[in-house]
Amino acid sequence: MKKPIETLQENASGFFEKVATKYASSMKCSEGCSKCCYTDITVFEVESIVITSWFKNLDSKMQSELRELWKSPVIDGACSFLYNDRCSVYEARPIICRTQGAPLFVQVDNTLDYCPLNFTEGDPPKEDWLNLDRLNTLLSFAAKTAGEEKRVRLKKLKQELIQL
Ligand code: SF4
Repeated sequence: MKKPIETLQENASGFFEKVATKYASSMKCSEGCSKCCYTDITVFEVESIVITSWFKNLDSKMQSELRELWKSPVIDGACSFLYNDRCSVYEARPIICRTQGAPLFVQVDNTLDYCPLNFTEGDPPKEDWLNLDRLNTLLSFAAKTAGEEKRVRLKKLKQELIQL
């Protein structure tokens, strides 16, 4: 049975895919664009465990290749998992990474946020916005119910995976 965090991650990806399909001509997000990956993020432990489990389930050749890759430095300012403009944990990436580029509505500030490369001709309609506060509430709830609320820096997680 799927964990709540896995369902939430899938739903986030599903939302992104739906919007990206609908606004294919207005969104520049594509494989090889990594502009939103120049960041040093922390995630709830519940999401770091998803990455660790994904890594443990890879075959040993793939694990060794990733360990070698991760031992090399990343570009200045890039996420620890970004290599050659690609996410090396893509299948298990955190929720925040699954929604970048899509129209994200921040209710507390009443603002709409998206990549400056997207929607250059204007905001998409409200029905296609993702309520970020609601998503964060659901994420916190998933972390709390799993008892995995500690914050984990991806940089540290990568070092731990190298040592596994
Ligand atoms: S985990 Fe992957 S998608 Fe998320 S910021 Fe890092 S490289 Fe980018």
